[in-house]
Amino acid sequence: MSTADSATVVGHFIDGKRVGGDSERRGDVFDPATGRRTALVELASASDVAGAVESAERAARAWRDASLSKRTAVLFAFRELVNARRDRLAEAITAEHGKVLADAAGEVQRGMEVIEYACGIPSALRGGFSENVSTEVDSYSLRQPLGVVAVISPFNFPAMVPLWFVPVAVACGNAVVLKPSEKDPSAALLLAEWFAEAGLPAGVLNVVNGDKEAVDALLDHPGVKAVSFVGSTPVARYVHQRASMAGKRVQALGGAKNHMVVLPDADLDLAADAAVNAGFGSAGERCMAISALVAVEPVADALVAKIAERMARLRTGDGRRGCDMGPLVTAAHAERVRSYVESGVAAGAIPVVDGRQVTPDGDADGFWLGPTLFDHVTPEMSIYTDEIFGPVLSVVRVGSYDEAVELVNANPYGNGTAIFTNDGGAARRYQHEVEVGMVGVNVPIPVPMAYYSFGGWKASLFGDLHAHGADGVAFYTRGKVVTSRWLDPRHGGVNLGFPTQS
Ligand code: NAD
Repeated sequence: MSTADSATVVGHFIDGKRVGGDSERRGDVFDPATGRRTALVELASASDVAGAVESAERAARAWRDASLSKRTAVLFAFRELVNARRDRLAEAITAEHGKVLADAAGEVQRGMEVIEYACGIPSALRGGFSENVSTEVDSYSLRQPLGVVAVISPFNFPAMVPLWFVPVAVACGNAVVLKPSEKDPSAALLLAEWFAEAGLPAGVLNVVNGDKEAVDALLDHPGVKAVSFVGSTPVARYVHQRASMAGKRVQALGGAKNHMVVLPDADLDLAADAAVNAGFGSAGERCMAISALVAVEPVADALVAKIAERMARLRTGDGRRGCDMGPLVTAAHAERVRSYVESGVAAGAIPVVDGRQVTPDGDADGFWLGPTLFDHVTPEMSIYTDEIFGPVLSVVRVGSYDEAVELVNANPYGNGTAIFTNDGGAARRYQHEVEVGMVGVNVPIPVPMAYYSFGGWKASLFGDLHAHGADGVAFYTRGKVVTSRWLDPRHGGVNLGFPTQS
């Protein structure tokens, strides 16, 4: 953390405008490809957060009554703005996160799909109606907004994760306070400005930048009715517990250790391509990255050779130079991942490709670590047990399909998994037996489309409902059922019995 100086200061977006400049605490924002600090980000205090929640509470009272036509008009206009400015958003992501531009553009695309889903909110919010549930009595269901909801997002998808939640929450008639990662705060501010430009009333979306202090203030504030969190498992667990204790609805998506199982009959070229893409895309800083490759013998030797061959052609470097893989997000994170590589070597895993020896196409001070492939990894090694969140792929060799499933199901995480095979029966058995929330069959990163819901099992999600799709709408609304009878003189009379149909 630094004191104020002449660097650009990234503030908050409250009540329809950018504000800031007076925080006592500020954090550093880096360009990971150069290692240079490019901005300071304000770290909100509890009173800054209270101001944002008050603005959201005021806005929520009117926004809940905005017609569905008005809400969708704003969402359609927002979608057009993001679409027209997708390159600008991708550049802002790459400048602070480090992922290559094509990957940042992919993140924007996946986020836009959720905006498009939210444009269809009139269908998703349709209730049911039953005529004559009792004589001349009708019954119907409504879904109503919660009020103010908080969204707390991680560094690795600074645009997509906010977009998993904000469009759906707003479409359902809520107001939002978004707390992005302090490591790459700019994308969220652009989205908030563009939402305002699209016609979203002031206060319906506020962005407060900050760290644990801002998060705790949101978790404790009585005006916040629900919390959508995405981040590491220890923080997700904490957020779930603290917000639940405060009586809020919570969905807290956590970390992951995603396994890709390769059966002996798989197309090994396809599997090798998939392992490289899913292992090293975004430098492995994806919650759906493949970090454990489970090779069912006798495929391991051939598969490892094919993966290593492909890795030799990968270019690590500045994401603005057409490289395949960018830097890690901070110097501290690059150091942490490097120490895992060291611990893998020390534990006896075989470093087939060692990312510590990479020559990057980028500034010498960037936060570099090349892709690493370990073979002969065993389940007790820390490179297998821990979420590394970097470009490190571990090959675990097993003797049978049953051993593979047992390994995957014994893992505490359950976010994503994939099976590579040409045997439809084996794939079907895997998707039935595996204890993981998102499953790919010959698809390495099975991120559901916006009209399905995204979420893992076990230590990858605390709460009941997943993000976007039908779960997102259920999370951001409360159900109400109305039983109605319009006056008819035939229905007079006193009856203390419990209501039954007649
Ligand atoms: P993180 O847990 O460090 O931070 C996430 C958010 O919580 C940030 O906004 C941060 O400011 C805040 N935070 C950090 N420490 C806190 C604390 N002690 N108390 C309260 N708030 C705190 O996560 P990260 O490093 O930004 O993101 C990477 C992690 O997110 C990985 O574990 C990854 O698997 C996970 N992730 C999960 C999903 C998913 O869908 N399951 C998606 C993306 C990322």
